Amino acid sequence: MGELLKGKPVADAMKEDLINRVNALKERGITPKLGIMRVGARPDDLFYEGGAKKTCDSVGLAYEVFEYPEDVSQEAFEKAVVEVGARKDIHGILMFAPLPKHLDEKKIRSLIPVEKDVDCMTLGSAGKVFADDLTGFPPCTPTACMDILKYYDIPLKGKNVVVVGRSLVVGKPLAMLLLREHATVTICHSRTQNLPQICSGADILLAAVGRAKMIDRSYVRPGQIVIDVGINPDPDNPGKYCGDVNTAEVEPIVDKITPVPGGVGSVTTIVLCKHTVMACEMQNP
Ligand code: NAP
Repeated sequence: MGELLKGKPVADAMKEDLINRVNALKERGITPKLGIMRVGARPDDLFYEGGAKKTCDSVGLAYEVFEYPEDVSQEAFEKAVVEVGARKDIHGILMFAPLPKHLDEKKIRSLIPVEKDVDCMTLGSAGKVFADDLTGFPPCTPTACMDILKYYDIPLKGKNVVVVGRSLVVGKPLAMLLLREHATVTICHSRTQNLPQICSGADILLAAVGRAKMIDRSYVRPGQIVIDVGINPDPDNPGKYCGDVNTAEVEPIVDKITPVPGGVGSVTTIVLCKHTVMACEMQNP
């Protein structure tokens, strides 16, 4: 059976470090604070928000939720983003996306100050990630994958790493972060040919596809490390969720694998806190 790379020990180690850093800021009279901007009340957003608030509490980070009705106008929401962005006491901003269709999301995202963009909503942050500029925050989920690999001492230098998925929120920035660590990265997507063959050639396979249990035994081989980013409704267990990897088939074959739940998802909110603390430190040198 493959070793389970659980997220909780990773999150716990990060928490300990963050508590010290938050206390150091508080001793200087500064309380790091996250601004959470939400339009409407989608259950997924509320679930993530609840987790984020709990994690903020656990490290002593303050937060403020800015909630807007589903039919908020472009003008009103733009004004709100500019106002929250200008607040000196708010060091990081989390904005839930996608925004309702009547809003110009591209324009609204661009109004978040890059130095407060702790989940990579702006092109400015994305550019910094692609340019290896460490003052830019990558999205929280790819960072969580990297933090898991680092915590479990999984070497990346020179390794063949395959990322399945090329979204701007997971696959592409993840590939850049892996490249930064000198991995040889292949990015796959829905038009990739011979996907099982490419995946089974990898030393490390990261699945960010959004298709429940798609990565089955035909995509893997013994000795591999598999990071499952997926969070999907489990077709076999109504009310539960599962990853992009068919864990029952893959776990007995590979060397190490992240579980779902309890893997990448359990590190994401602590990364959000880490980015907010970093943003606060950078804004208060
Ligand atoms: P997305 O925007 O839907 O992107 C999915 C990517 O997978 C696309 O690049 C798509 O290719 C590719 N793809 C789809 N079907 C494929 C197939 N049959 N073969 C190969 N590639 C295929 O999804 P996302 O936002 O990146 O999220 C990916 C997964 O991560 C989802 O399960 C999501 O729930 C999960 N997620 C988890 C966290 C967390 O904290 N753990 C956070 C965010 C997302 P094309 O580009 O060609 O369409």
